[in-house]
Amino acid sequence: MTMQTATPGRAAAEARYPELALYVDGQWTQGSGARREPVLNPATGQVLGEVPLAERADLDAAVAAAGRGFALWRDLPVERRTAILRRAADLLRAQANEIGRVMTLEEGKPHGEATGEVTRVATLLDWDAEEGRRAYGRIIPTGPGETLTVTRAPVGPVAAFTPWNFPAGGPMRKIAAALAAGCSIVIKASEETPGTANLLVRAFEEAGLPAGVLNLVFGVPSEVSEHLIAAPEIRFVAFTGSVPVGKHLAGLAAAAMKPTIMELGGHAPVIVCEDVDPAEAARSCARGKFVNAGQVCTSPSRFYVHESGYDTFVDVFAEAAAAVRVGDGLAPGVMMGPLANPRRRAAVDAMVTDARARGARVLTGGEVPDGPGYFYPPTVLVDVPEDAAILREEPFGPLAPILPFSDLDEAISRANALPYGLAAYGFTHRADLAARLARAFEAGILSINHVGGSVPQAPSGGVKESGHGREGGSEGLEGYLVTKRVAHRMQ
Ligand code: NAD
Repeated sequence: MTMQTATPGRAAAEARYPELALYVDGQWTQGSGARREPVLNPATGQVLGEVPLAERADLDAAVAAAGRGFALWRDLPVERRTAILRRAADLLRAQANEIGRVMTLEEGKPHGEATGEVTRVATLLDWDAEEGRRAYGRIIPTGPGETLTVTRAPVGPVAAFTPWNFPAGGPMRKIAAALAAGCSIVIKASEETPGTANLLVRAFEEAGLPAGVLNLVFGVPSEVSEHLIAAPEIRFVAFTGSVPVGKHLAGLAAAAMKPTIMELGGHAPVIVCEDVDPAEAARSCARGKFVNAGQVCTSPSRFYVHESGYDTFVDVFAEAAAAVRVGDGLAPGVMMGPLANPRRRAAVDAMVTDARARGARVLTGGEVPDGPGYFYPPTVLVDVPEDAAILREEPFGPLAPILPFSDLDEAISRANALPYGLAAYGFTHRADLAARLARAFEAGILSINHVGGSVPQAPSGGVKESGHGREGGSEGLEGYLVTKRVAHRMQ
């Protein structure tokens, strides 16, 4: 395999978009083949650059490097590992504005949102790096002459796959946990947002991460996942993405008896109880709904509002949605960018068309605008029948169906009716109702009286078809560690 070198980011000061490359065994490479894929700016549809696609030889090189990298990284004193990871976090913080700009170019979210994402991944990396120092074991009492210990060891080289909606957050959740646990990793980040992934990896390189510990590839997703998951050196599989792809990859991993973390889609219900101010709840929900144009797995996506406050909630929500300033994420004052790709816009528009055909009313939005880019307006729907696609499939876009309820038990059963179980939201100031919602919601992430995001110190993850395993918190390192029992007889 010929390794051509190309350092991404170096030209970023002059050019608008970094040169894209794979990172294998500490080298930037265009890979051994000629296949390339264009990367588009979703605000304009223009080509930003071309991402090289890995061939089998490149993937084999990445896996072999991860095997060597693992042996080296696992045995580095934890203080040295932590110092390197924290240095990378500092570099990311210092470059947040520039990496955020690249993220906005390729994914579309407003620049402030993108920069905030980079700052948050630096904090996450700090947190995981510190948590890696606390992979404690225990000593179990036995008799004289024997010690019985339980230790935690890194599971081994990891294969990870991340989507385009959080170009920094998706990859970092996996890289930080894997490296903090002492694992090496081959990550296939999204071919649609490769610039951010290149710049993240460059921070680890600059921080002094040894070659082979972190390898970045792009490629044809099905080819890459099949090849990496089957590779004997790979010991763990981590995926974020849609439920169907997650089920497919979990099947491939099961065939090779490899453990997985599956962070899949959701369709988060919101229940607004009778006791709260519906206008205040509506403003809070609208703020959360349009983050990243609704392309968030935990985005609130079905709003069940008690009938007493329903009309007020609908009016205030629709007003807030209509006031969202949509545009190119690099323009000042823009609150919501385009959808990240043409697939997403077509899917979102098809859901609105389907709901309309079934009798739903669109209060604001609901039309593909003229002009370049993949824009779609914040859209509020009412009178949506239960069989509409938007109430059954993950909308993953700026759509808000609002439905009334009269009985809380009935709202809870509608909320739990889908196979998803990622996030859920409740609005109530009554402790008994909050406790009831917390018990009843079938979801791994529950927020009461806000639509907040994830934090590094607490775990995120789903139940039911939304997946298994947790990212974040001390639980986030669990998947990347194996437990070893050592019974030592001294005579
Ligand atoms: P998709 O299902 O084609 O792809 C989702 C992600 O999985 C992408 O990053 C893609 O590159 C990757 N992927 C697809 N096939 C793969 C394979 N065989 N092996 C490895 N990776 C593979 O859908 P899409 O059009 O990119 O996104 C649409 C849907 O995906 C959304 O409706 C949403 O449900 C889901 N999604 C979820 C998340 C999340 O955070 N959970 C993120 C992005 C997309």
